[in-house]
Amino acid sequence: MSSFPLLFDLGSTRPTTRDIARTVKVGGTAALTEAERRADQARYQEITCRSALNRVQGMPFEWTLNPYRGCTHGCHYCYARRYHTQFEMNADDEFASVILVKKNFADVLTRELARPSWSGAYVAVGTATDCYQPIEGHYRLTRRAIEALLRARNPMGIITKGPMIVRDRDLLAAFSRVAACTVHMSVPTVDEDAWQRLEPGTAHPLQRLRAVRDLVDAGVNTGVLMNPIVPGFSSSRAKLERTIKTIADHGARFVGCNVMFLEDGTRAHFMKFLEREFPSWLPRYEKLYAKKYAPQEYRKQVQGMVRVLQERYGVSGRERPPHVDERLEAEQVGFAW
Ligand code: SF4
Repeated sequence: MSSFPLLFDLGSTRPTTRDIARTVKVGGTAALTEAERRADQARYQEITCRSALNRVQGMPFEWTLNPYRGCTHGCHYCYARRYHTQFEMNADDEFASVILVKKNFADVLTRELARPSWSGAYVAVGTATDCYQPIEGHYRLTRRAIEALLRARNPMGIITKGPMIVRDRDLLAAFSRVAACTVHMSVPTVDEDAWQRLEPGTAHPLQRLRAVRDLVDAGVNTGVLMNPIVPGFSSSRAKLERTIKTIADHGARFVGCNVMFLEDGTRAHFMKFLEREFPSWLPRYEKLYAKKYAPQEYRKQVQGMVRVLQERYGVSGRERPPHVDERLEAEQVGFAW
């Protein structure tokens, strides 16, 4: 039982995201009296969702699935930080420590996939949160969502930093035999220092790459997204080369990359992080990120270097989901993870 004062009784039925936003607006996250604090010190608030399939624009796909909101991996560059502000929470600590759990997610998804109006379009799983963050071990919402997609033979791609995905290797292998199924493991760098600084709650990069090896061996089309490459932390030629070589050594079917972009809540959070831990870098960053994206010339240089290294180590470029508009993708350097 929470020791926070009860400002709003959310009742025995689970609140919706709108209820949560209203409650937090008035009483802050302390008003989430039903949220359960677990050993990782994060608080988990179960909610009821009205829809699972989420239509998006400006991405290389049209539909996404996110069984959770917020992410205990807490990567400082995470573009999804700003989405937490939709629930009246901040993009800093609350993004990584107050996690919304859509308890009825798989049931809602099953109903949506059965609708005659559903087109069977490709869906991307885990675009605004990590669908294999540790709490998935308890709730298994991602697994149940994949089971629903498999029953519908609906093509999908998964983006994650969670080695827990190997738990579902049987399911993903079965999926791959009947419909398009691609796993994008996010490993921006294998540099230990950059990993520890930038991604405080994630599994070690080599653990993620061992998961890539396991999935490929199980027959699942699995590659790596080095997203994002963060200037100064992971962008040197030596670090890029070590990362791409290690990715190739683990049998990844493809590798892609994007340079970090910063907007809204993520920008504010990242600049605060720099100010606290790398104050001397702040002026260079303010110049490099005068706008949302680093200058095109810089991005081209990084991506050119990555292309050379991909060829050297024999691992191909990023695989596109079906029906991707290449022109759109070229503009969306920041879709990525
Ligand atoms: S980048 Fe991915 S793993 Fe990291 S905090 Fe964001 S959603 Fe979680």
